Amino acid sequence: MDRSLTPDIFARLGTRPIINACGIYTDLGGSRLSPTVWSAMAESNRQYVRMVDLLESSGRILAGHLGAEAGRVTTGAAASIVLMVSAAITGGDGAASARLPDTTGLRNEVVLQRNQRYKYDRQIPMTGASVVLAGTEAGTSEAELEAAIGPRTAALFVPAHLDGAGHTVALARVVAIARRHGLKVLVDAAYMCWPLEAMPGYVAAGADLVSFSAKYFGGPNAGGFMVGTRAMIDAVTANNFTRYESGPHLTIGRVFKLDRQTVVGVVTAFEEWRGADHPARWARYARLVEQLRARLAGLPGVTAVARYFTMDERLVPDPVNSLVLELAAGHRLTHAELGRHLAEGNPSIACDVQADKLIFCFDAISDEEVDTVGTRLLEVLSG
Ligand SMILES: *Cc1c(COP(=O)(O)O)cnc(C)c1O
Repeated sequence: MDRSLTPDIFARLGTRPIINACGIYTDLGGSRLSPTVWSAMAESNRQYVRMVDLLESSGRILAGHLGAEAGRVTTGAAASIVLMVSAAITGGDGAASARLPDTTGLRNEVVLQRNQRYKYDRQIPMTGASVVLAGTEAGTSEAELEAAIGPRTAALFVPAHLDGAGHTVALARVVAIARRHGLKVLVDAAYMCWPLEAMPGYVAAGADLVSFSAKYFGGPNAGGFMVGTRAMIDAVTANNFTRYESGPHLTIGRVFKLDRQTVVGVVTAFEEWRGADHPARWARYARLVEQLRARLAGLPGVTAVARYFTMDERLVPDPVNSLVLELAAGHRLTHAELGRHLAEGNPSIACDVQADKLIFCFDAISDEEVDTVGTRLLEVLSG
């Protein structure tokens, strides 16, 4: 059996380990830390550090990579949304920070284009702000975006993966409109860490703060970072978890407390990701997909095709990272039954089970685990 599946630690805690053939999902633990990242985190455990200093110096390194003035490691992109919006509302005014989520008397509206609603916009109102939707399901015109701006608007918010989607105003134009009104532009670019060349683009386009999630670049699942202007990172700091006990204000960022090990893990993982051989990473996925496909070839009533399971969960041809398995109509098993056999077997295998297919995504799996998935599939399908 694959040694990475040694069940001891999880057995001790009463939990069964799984093989993750779903991809990068927080519910499944997010990411697997590389030996380099893990050892850097272990090294950081040996000494204490002033967290205020570590956040500033690590932020400078991250900002330097993306052409920004400043940066901050956070506990992830969802936390970053709260910190970004808090910063836009309070602008570094500590007394105002101490009142959140009471935003009485503050600019407390965040404009989001109707077709850019997404599951993490739930984080915006946690600050006490309200979301003002611009435009309709048909899209948003520049005039509609401007009409949504009022005397209480603090910022315009853009989820980067939905930039321009559904006839929305593109980021560059959102920035131009925000500038005209003296407003901030906040960007959630959580999973836009590949291709690498795209990452500095949001700051270059004029966004005031841009956040990324570490789970997508091999960092700790409870990690992420943001970069942006000096003034806005300072405003983030004023709302953040540090100096809760030693500073003048009790801030809402305290719930996003970080440890030094995670800060080191995020920076180390990001630098490793920047230096990684990404063509080799994709070639590895393709090789593993082909390896599993070949093992299933010839099984009656089973078709398996290579696909790209995208970050927003669409299946497209390229570049390959997944195997899509379909059972013929008269097959002994339904897709749900096959998924259940895999989940309940030993070892337990998690894949994306849909009514008409199973998707095995290899973004987060080891070579040995793919071998085990193949063996289990052959057992269940020919059993
Ligand atoms: C995963 C994700 C988030 C949340 O990131 P965390 O680091 O897990 O908090 C936010 N936005 C998008 C688009 C994501 O995919």
